[in-house]
Amino acid sequence: MVEREAHVEVLLEILAVLGVLDLPQPTKDHDPLLLLGRDRHHPVAFDERPQRAGVRYDARMPKRARSQTTTATPNQPAESAAAPAKAQAPAKAQAQAKAQAKKHAPAPAPTPSQTPAPPVERPALPDGRILGAHLALGPGMVKAVERAHAIGADALQVFADNPTAWRRRTDPPPELAAFRARCVELGIGPIAIHAAYLVNLASPDDDLFERSIGVLTRELEVAPGFGARFVNVHIGSHRGTTVETGVARVGEGVARTLTAVPDDPDAAMLVLENAAGSGDAIGCTLEELAAILAAVDARGIPARRVGICLDTAHLWGAGYDISTPQGVDDLVARASAAFGLDRLVMIHFNDSKASLGSKVDRHQHLGAGSIGAPGLARLLVHPELRQVAFYLETPGMDEGYDAINVARARDLARGVPLAELPPEALDLPSSRSRAAKPPASAPAPAPAPAPAPAPAPAQKPPAPAPEQ
Ligand SMILES: [Zn+2]
Ligand SMILES: [Zn+2]
Repeated sequence: MVEREAHVEVLLEILAVLGVLDLPQPTKDHDPLLLLGRDRHHPVAFDERPQRAGVRYDARMPKRARSQTTTATPNQPAESAAAPAKAQAPAKAQAQAKAQAKKHAPAPAPTPSQTPAPPVERPALPDGRILGAHLALGPGMVKAVERAHAIGADALQVFADNPTAWRRRTDPPPELAAFRARCVELGIGPIAIHAAYLVNLASPDDDLFERSIGVLTRELEVAPGFGARFVNVHIGSHRGTTVETGVARVGEGVARTLTAVPDDPDAAMLVLENAAGSGDAIGCTLEELAAILAAVDARGIPARRVGICLDTAHLWGAGYDISTPQGVDDLVARASAAFGLDRLVMIHFNDSKASLGSKVDRHQHLGAGSIGAPGLARLLVHPELRQVAFYLETPGMDEGYDAINVARARDLARGVPLAELPPEALDLPSSRSRAAKPPASAPAPAPAPAPAPAPAPAQKPPAPAPEQ
């Protein structure tokens, strides 16, 4: 089983070459940066994709006009997306919305390299809590920040490098300083870096364990350059040893990683993400996460350097029924008892295509999956989660659904019924097969036309690939 793990990367590459698996493949023609963000959840750059009928979205349009262009989405109440927050939000939220709008006022005259960033009406989440999204950096790092701003996201999660390769870039990306500056200008943050998927801090194989520490150390080293507050990582799998052995291994791996990274004021926090539970995964229960934190704490690592990310789709796969407000309240109480809510710093806010307890991890649009709106809405406004930053990892980020899901999250928080999504949205295929195409050959998105009739059936790409 160790061998199997050792050959995972090679195997993936072979499958990709054979066309069985469509992982992003670096070529000498492409800056590796172009491949960033193209994992199973976010495979293709957002502005390379033609817009789909029913989800037309033009970031340059004011929100009211945008909501009209999305009326092709069946059953969408016209006022759902357009209703100003002020109409429904309490005074405090109003003030926050105002402050936020001020904070995100359009930047001064853009340089030629910058897309003008339009002002966006942003109904704030309660208590000023943060809603972000994982966006691809492929089309440009500054563009990603501006996209986050344009769709009404407060924060941004990115890959700092190719998420499916061990090899790390040696030089910083040329746009790094501009990225950081634009985040500050537009008030986008906190920035989170999602670490490479190959990391396995629980691996019983010494070589893989060392490589995992090496890659994770590198992610933390580059984080200040991105202005990132968080580096979140999938904890890994004990590969058939035991949970106890795995937990101890993770404790050692985390401690060694953080010892190798300077504990500077701008250092990022390492954030351990829960798992859905497939393949001997570690950290699928709150108690396992607590045991890992205890193992790290016992090695003298300050608690402020290590936090927890709960991915809602993973919680669901692991058997936590968060489909009802009561279920969410129970979860929050259990997390509080297990490791304390101070340690919970991020939530990956996704619905799921999988069934409860299936150990399967497949992300779905908010409110359109098996978790559903009532539970997700409760989580988003839970009074004890105001310190948590929420990041969307929903499908079709590069096809206009990034804006749709940000709007859906804000509707959830305000208790506004969610619009029904067109059928093709629910079965959105992985774009991995298209990820390797040179960006130049991809059609540029056309500006959204005037209100369109019902969605025309888009050419249906082949079999949907699982999110994960
Ligand atoms: Zn996640
Ligand atoms: Zn996932």
